[in-house]
Amino acid sequence: MDFHQFFGNESPPSDHYVSVLEHWAEHRPDSIAFGFTDVESTDDSLTYEKLWQEVRGLAGYLQGRCRVRRGDRVLLIYPPGLDFVVGFLACHAAGAVAVPAFPPRRNRKASRIRSIVVDAEAKWALTTTDVVERLSGHGWHEDLVGVQLLGTDDQTCRDQSRWRRPELSGDSLAVLQYTSGSTGTPKGVMLTQQNLIANSQLIMHGFQVEPDTIGCTWLPTYHDMGLVGGLLMPLYIGRTNMMMSPMTFLQRPARWLQAISKYKVTVSGGPNFAYQLCVDKISDEEMEGVDLSSLQIAFNGAEPIRVNTLDTFCERFAPYGFNRQAFLPCYGMAETTLIITGGPKETRPVVESFDGPQLDQRRVVHVDAQQAGTQQTGVRSLVGCGRVLPNETVLIVDPDTCDVLQEDQIGEIWVQSPSVGVGYYQRASATQRTFHARTSAGEGPFLRTGDLGFMYDGQLYISGRLKDMIIVRGVNRYPQDIEETVERASSMVQAGAVGAFAMEHDGREQLAIVAETVRERNVDWDAHIQAIRRAVTSEHELPPDAVYLVRNSSVPKTSSGKIQRHACLHAVRDGDLKLTAKWVRWEESAG
Ligand code: ATP
Ligand code: MG
Repeated sequence: MDFHQFFGNESPPSDHYVSVLEHWAEHRPDSIAFGFTDVESTDDSLTYEKLWQEVRGLAGYLQGRCRVRRGDRVLLIYPPGLDFVVGFLACHAAGAVAVPAFPPRRNRKASRIRSIVVDAEAKWALTTTDVVERLSGHGWHEDLVGVQLLGTDDQTCRDQSRWRRPELSGDSLAVLQYTSGSTGTPKGVMLTQQNLIANSQLIMHGFQVEPDTIGCTWLPTYHDMGLVGGLLMPLYIGRTNMMMSPMTFLQRPARWLQAISKYKVTVSGGPNFAYQLCVDKISDEEMEGVDLSSLQIAFNGAEPIRVNTLDTFCERFAPYGFNRQAFLPCYGMAETTLIITGGPKETRPVVESFDGPQLDQRRVVHVDAQQAGTQQTGVRSLVGCGRVLPNETVLIVDPDTCDVLQEDQIGEIWVQSPSVGVGYYQRASATQRTFHARTSAGEGPFLRTGDLGFMYDGQLYISGRLKDMIIVRGVNRYPQDIEETVERASSMVQAGAVGAFAMEHDGREQLAIVAETVRERNVDWDAHIQAIRRAVTSEHELPPDAVYLVRNSSVPKTSSGKIQRHACLHAVRDGDLKLTAKWVRWEESAG
């Protein structure tokens, strides 16, 4: 992509985010940097000039009064809103390392925030005065041991006169970005200023953004997609981004689409579940007067992308101006700041069909579209997650031998990119294993993504996570394929809330399924279990050994909404499930 065409003679500096912000405050003082909206009532906003002023004021206070020093980790536990933006950038302007997290909440497992607090060894936590009050009143400080809280919306927390420009370079540590915790405890990825800038440039390439870009996000800023897509990327290009609370979207998904219409948004997106939620929940009345034709880029990443979701979303919202070509499937992770693959514009979105049983054996056999249409079972349609971007190398590698594989084989995805972080904070051996891998021929260092996938016709396809791969009775299956079948098999199963995994019993691996049910009385649950067993057996040639139907909101998920399959297994083992009904093969034969 031609950056000059995008920026004209306003190209931002590429050393660090403090100079990027200063640059836009100079060049576009009066344009809105960030807005915060719930669509229905009045909005809050910050111009570039105002943002720069607020950031310097708070940074001066942190340096002066709070004695925050270069490299100190500062926790950000803001509720959604513009205060987060100021707090995050003030950390950079004070030379500190920003650690985004969320405020501890009642009735919620505090383990994520607690593990971050312990891991990051932060002395300060920035938030709003409201949260400080709430936390002080309830003794929830136990999750925040040894951390001092500061409510930064209090305007007395500003002291520009004491602000000292920090000595920053591209190598300065900027953010500890925690992984979602889908496969274990969240790990803090060390990202430098250079990583952040490189990733914003990669997104510009991947998305092929236009100069008239306006963004909109409801994604939580304590996860990679919300932080980079919602704050870092829009700030780098110096355009306007409208923010919304995740709850505003989750409680009424139509507000996302209404915001796109209201602000003539050109770029927005989220994980696949968000698009599905729109299909499932939005009524015609809510769509009255909504026009989605401004949307040029609807990115979809962070979890498996389903062909069915793309199709149904398109069908449902094309009458309101949604253009299928806007879909931009992408792939990335906290370890690479965010994006790895995405685009190009011309062919979006790419859907191809492959031989399912061959994929299970880690072989890639393409099936042409016509054949796919006539052949009912055994064919799997997958969404291409984009092309490899400039300055990146992506290899498909045998995870055991570290041999680089041929194009027709599935292996672990290995990445080299300027946006790959420095390593995991305080975890030398995990860093060595994950960030410094070498192929059997000695090429490296590469980041091991832990994901299985393959390249086909210039696109990267993700077939599943290495850790979650189900190997039962000598056959290999990807859990998400089985989970999708379970969702389709029963109308009582909640979309996006099914976990399939292998579980040991009697010294053998067995296929177990945990599925959340919708709230309903007088249901013949056994019939639904039967239907699930039948569908999985016929589509995957692997009969389930145990099916657990559980109550609403009790399938273990990350705070970004991803299934935690290992936690499902533990919940079964520990008897922690809120069961609606179950069927277990070995209990049946014992009884
Ligand atoms: P943890 O590393 O703590 O177990 P996590 O891997 O879910 O959690 P993130 O960095 O937020 O944490 O997510 C990255 C992962 O999300 C990728 O490794 C991949 O498994 C999945 N992912 C991202 N994009 C896609 C995609 N387009 N299709 C399928 N999976 C995706
Ligand atoms: Mg991960």
